[in-house]
Amino acid sequence: MRERPLHWRGHILSAGDPQPGDQAPEGYIQWHAWAEVQHKAGLRQKECGKCGRWKYPQELSGEEVSCTGITPRGKKRTITMPVCNACADADAGRAILAEASDER
Ligand SMILES: [Zn+2]
Repeated sequence: MRERPLHWRGHILSAGDPQPGDQAPEGYIQWHAWAEVQHKAGLRQKECGKCGRWKYPQELSGEEVSCTGITPRGKKRTITMPVCNACADADAGRAILAEASDER
């Protein structure tokens, strides 16, 4: 496995070219240019277990959800799926709101 570049959150190049590991840009065309770079760098998207959107590793929060389903053969199976940053942030926001309403 390749090491993640140290400056992966920052924009090292001023040219504005997307770099592998960069966060997704705003805008449709920019996003596609960015996604192509991620793909060429060997990064692959995973499906977020909450919103069902496909996200590159740098867009995933590191949190996971597991859900148990029944296979076509009737066996129970638990799968673990990653949670994207957006869903993790939304969860954190809800947790804060829930705490605040408990205190009333
Ligand atoms: Zn999500």
